[in-house]
Amino acid sequence: MKDNYVLFWHRRDLRIEDNIGLHKALTSENKVIPLFIFDENILDKLPKDDARVTFIHEQLEKMYNTLQEKHGVSLLVQHGNPIEVFREIIGKINIVAVYTNHDYETYAIARDQKVKEFLETENIAFHTFKDQVIFERDEIVKADGQPYSIYTPYSKKWLAKLKNSDYESVDCASHYKNFSKLHFDFLSLEAIGFTTSNIKVLPHTMTENIIENYEATRNFPAIEGTSKLSPHLRFGTISVRQCVQNGLQSEENTFLKELIWREFFMQILWHFPKSVTNNFKSKYDGIKWRNNEKEFKAWCEGKTGYPLVDAGMRELNESGYMHNRVRMITASFLCKHLLIDWKWGEAYFAEKLLDFDLAQNVGNWQWVAGTGCDSAPYFRIFNPTTQIQKFDKAHNYIKKWVPDYQEFSYPQPIVEHKHARERCLATYKEGLT
Ligand code: FAD
Repeated sequence: MKDNYVLFWHRRDLRIEDNIGLHKALTSENKVIPLFIFDENILDKLPKDDARVTFIHEQLEKMYNTLQEKHGVSLLVQHGNPIEVFREIIGKINIVAVYTNHDYETYAIARDQKVKEFLETENIAFHTFKDQVIFERDEIVKADGQPYSIYTPYSKKWLAKLKNSDYESVDCASHYKNFSKLHFDFLSLEAIGFTTSNIKVLPHTMTENIIENYEATRNFPAIEGTSKLSPHLRFGTISVRQCVQNGLQSEENTFLKELIWREFFMQILWHFPKSVTNNFKSKYDGIKWRNNEKEFKAWCEGKTGYPLVDAGMRELNESGYMHNRVRMITASFLCKHLLIDWKWGEAYFAEKLLDFDLAQNVGNWQWVAGTGCDSAPYFRIFNPTTQIQKFDKAHNYIKKWVPDYQEFSYPQPIVEHKHARERCLATYKEGLT
């Protein structure tokens, strides 16, 4: 008789430490085969040198080597349509259950439902767990059970609930002996049709120093004042529980509050999936965006003639990252100064950001455009020049990304600030229903 196994399906949790679903699998009765599927439904839409795919592949390779060298265990890496991949695996190996962690994006919810139904027809259980957030779905809701759409009361309840919660890290390492010893070869990047990108995810810098000084340093793009955690949280190369435990070390809680924004937007996406394509507040549906393609191109390329906006866009294009303060300024410039639909900007960021996360990107874009839940009032229009005085006085950030900003060849401002401001106010006012 063939041995029974369970699969642990890694998705947004590319680590073998402090992983809730993996811990559950390892403490079940059967030996565990760790699995990752390069989902062709997602991959087919990406450029062949996509930096996120390179990062995922590198991370999997690290996991494969660690498991192989230290424990003689193979990570099974597959490429294809998830259901077809499962069909093939169960044709060869006796699988009795599949374990995985929750994913809250619309595509993932539908995919998981189909996978669950398919596995059920094969008498295979599908067990899923909360892992990538502290509180999910409707764990933090108003007294009447409705979801919060305002951050402050949500964050207060989140903090209060945290005090009474058992959100501690789980120890997977002591159960590694429960991994299967079946051998699988590692899949190369070329085998899935991709090439290595030169754009790399940097290690995070969530140090005591960064968290202690976060309140004072987080707004200045020229200094290393933030944690660079976002791609790691996105792909689960670090556990959110560890980040929260670190955040709690600082009395000010400013850093922790940013992690709560992340969960706030996650639950907004869960409760309001239509906000991906629709204004959260429909009263903004009447805004007549100008959507000038030439101006959009200049913004994408960092050639607007506003050095801080251009520095942000060039940082994004060259490194796959942009500082949060500058994300707000570039996004505001697009929606307000150029009157281009936030969805265009959201799509461009989605293509370029290493930390792209649907909930965070849509939530923040709508926040900046004024159309989102708990967003900045529409008449708050960042002045892209005075922001330099406040946040990059010595021009260190600008000099790094736009070394030509004082040269003759540097473009003239694409639009005059005062004119753009007034045009924006008039257009929003007129469009508001
Ligand atoms: P830190 O300042 O060190 O913050 C720590 C963590 O808190 C971050 O890694 C992130 O997980 C969370 N966080 C911080 N700020 C926010 C915020 N405003 N909203 C939600 N979570 C936050 N973040 C993404 O992860 N993915 C995106 O696709 C994304 N798109 C954005 C688009 C726009 C227009 C704007 C204004 C912001 C966007 N953000 C996005 C939020 C934020 O800019 C990044 O999370 C942050 O800059 C990442 O750098 P860090 O890890 O050094 O952040």
